[in-house]
Amino acid sequence: MSSPVLSIVLPCHNEAENLDVLFSRLQAVMEKLGVTYEIIAIDDGSRDDTYARLLQHYGRDKNIKVVRLARNFGKESASSCGLEVARGQAVVLMDSDLQHPPETLPALYAKWKDGAQMVYAIRRNRDTDSLFRRQFSKLYYWLFGKIGDIKIPEGAGDFRLLDRRVVDAVNALPERSRFMKGLMSWVGFSTAEVEFDVAPRHKGESSWSPAGLMHFAIDGLISFSSIPLRIWTVIGLAVSASALLYLVYLVLRTLILGVDTPGFATIMATLLMLGGIQILGLGMVAEYIARIFTEVKRRPLYFIAEQHGFDKESNTSR
Ligand code: UDP
Ligand code: MG
Repeated sequence: MSSPVLSIVLPCHNEAENLDVLFSRLQAVMEKLGVTYEIIAIDDGSRDDTYARLLQHYGRDKNIKVVRLARNFGKESASSCGLEVARGQAVVLMDSDLQHPPETLPALYAKWKDGAQMVYAIRRNRDTDSLFRRQFSKLYYWLFGKIGDIKIPEGAGDFRLLDRRVVDAVNALPERSRFMKGLMSWVGFSTAEVEFDVAPRHKGESSWSPAGLMHFAIDGLISFSSIPLRIWTVIGLAVSASALLYLVYLVLRTLILGVDTPGFATIMATLLMLGGIQILGLGMVAEYIARIFTEVKRRPLYFIAEQHGFDKESNTSR
């Protein structure tokens, strides 16, 4: 089977109610565009009837391919799986809850035809996010810009088109920690942008909990910056230097003025503060060690339970 021009990768986790609308809008757009394509839906351990629905669509349309992962591995792993099984000359990653409107596809495609190897869909607004999430993102990307090794364009999410060369590059990255946005910026290549309006989720709820989001955010930062680790050297130096100055002052004062009344409160305050700083620093080091641990275990990112529509059947990834 020759490779299609476009592959559309859709990670799906409990999206049963969105699939009918999603596929009909996608098909309308693709027919208009008139290029060969494949739609790859990755069922990421859904607990509703997403998989059954996907199979119905698979039976109906030969452009649709379906992969079912062995359990819920998370969006980043599901997207990685999609990138690995996709055969298109360009691959579009998009959410399956219709927050990323399929109608933006022709614009992404046009920029790719113009020569860009990666086309970001930049959101014009964040109105669909909660106030907390909006503020959190703003602060996070500001921080990422300051201390991260790479630049992530403001407003760029996971909705994007990748040329085959970029897909191969991302697939070749060995790490387990898949902060896709970061990985895709890290590999480089020429980029272009297209703007779009984020739609509210069609049906269902976002799978992200605040704790999950926080974990993902810390993961991303730690994968692309060693500043949280190094900053402790600076803090340590500053604390030691002030301690030394204070020591000199104390010794001189005792020599000149004699023995002072001992200050229990100051000693306690200093002790506790120093203890706190040390534990914080240690915790930060532990964060990195924990990640080194997951990396060295080299477990696969996902397991495929079933797949439909592919030439070569294989059970596992890499
Ligand atoms: N998703 C997934 N696995 C997960 C969580 C989410 O494949 O464990 C998919 C989900 O079906 C959707 C996309 O990732 O297509 C974005 O998820 P969601 O809408 O929950 O996130 P948000 O839009 O709030 O960032
Ligand atoms: Mg969503």
